[in-house]
Amino acid sequence: MAKMRSAVLVGPRDIRLEEVERPVVARDTVVVKLESLGICGSNLHWWTGAPVEQGLMRFPLPGGGGHEYAGVVDEVGSDVTRVKAGDRVAVDFFESTSCGDCVQCGAGLFGQCERRRFLGLGGFTEYLMTGEKGLYPIPDGVELGLAAVVEPMACAASGVRRANLRGGETVVVLGAGVLGLCAAGAARALGAGKVIISAKHDAQAALAKRFGADVVVRSREPELVERIKAETGPHGADLVVETVGGHAPTLSQSIEILRSGCTVVVLGLFDEPVPVDTWSAVLKDARLLFSLTYGLRGKRHDFELCLEWMASGRVPAQELVTHVRPLAEIAEAFELAADKSRGVIKVMLNP
Ligand SMILES: [Zn+2]
Ligand SMILES: [Zn+2]
Repeated sequence: MAKMRSAVLVGPRDIRLEEVERPVVARDTVVVKLESLGICGSNLHWWTGAPVEQGLMRFPLPGGGGHEYAGVVDEVGSDVTRVKAGDRVAVDFFESTSCGDCVQCGAGLFGQCERRRFLGLGGFTEYLMTGEKGLYPIPDGVELGLAAVVEPMACAASGVRRANLRGGETVVVLGAGVLGLCAAGAARALGAGKVIISAKHDAQAALAKRFGADVVVRSREPELVERIKAETGPHGADLVVETVGGHAPTLSQSIEILRSGCTVVVLGLFDEPVPVDTWSAVLKDARLLFSLTYGLRGKRHDFELCLEWMASGRVPAQELVTHVRPLAEIAEAFELAADKSRGVIKVMLNP
């Protein structure tokens, strides 16, 4: 049996590589040789062990929770028709593990599939066994080693697309990490008139203009809300995209800066229940829209749209990758990704 390396999250802050059997293709499956693996904020969250205390996961976690994948099709089963060996593909983790026929799948919401089907070991691994669904061709002009960044980008784009921009809106994005910068880029690409973003770190602020932001405010400014209101004008923002989460007060700030009758899209993951001034929200007829993953909207999957924006440079998501490390250095790469003070935005592993 051929072997490969695959990660295991053994305990808090302890991720290691193990030798495991390489997947062998079956009639209706595909094996992808992964070339680009992204370390996601959610991976870092599991790595700290916090979800174990909350009873949401257990150690050891095979694969380490990786789900941002791109690579080259290595082998296909005899019944596979949609891809062939040698194709460069980005993998929609949710669609590729979806049943394809539940109510949620029918609506294109693969992230909400009711009967998920795992074909093999996922995560931070060299070879991925998957079905032929959920594989999106990577266009020329997108570097394979960076292509997995399409996954977080699609999360952000999906949230913005759900707000149905018509063009010309004033959009405020709170937070300028990967999700925030991609949300700004998506808002711009979808026709926003003015994009205002709040950034905590210098490296984030420096990139914001590349992602279509007209105004960058620093989140440590004591008068942050006032500062943003000065930019939106008296009516407030037509759309607010919250991407910070954690322990931040950004949900109530979002409602404060929102224009009446408009939408807050929440992409950030909060570490605890968040108090919301529902009176302010009601008085504004505010809509709060929580968004987790991506999928089909109309006829277009978020991955297709985002890969197109990456290839054309319209949203240069590849520039978010500040560090690329070999898979062998996964433990150090996690430490690096967790330390945002060192100019890190996105860490990518190339097996
Ligand atoms: Zn992710
Ligand atoms: Zn399903």
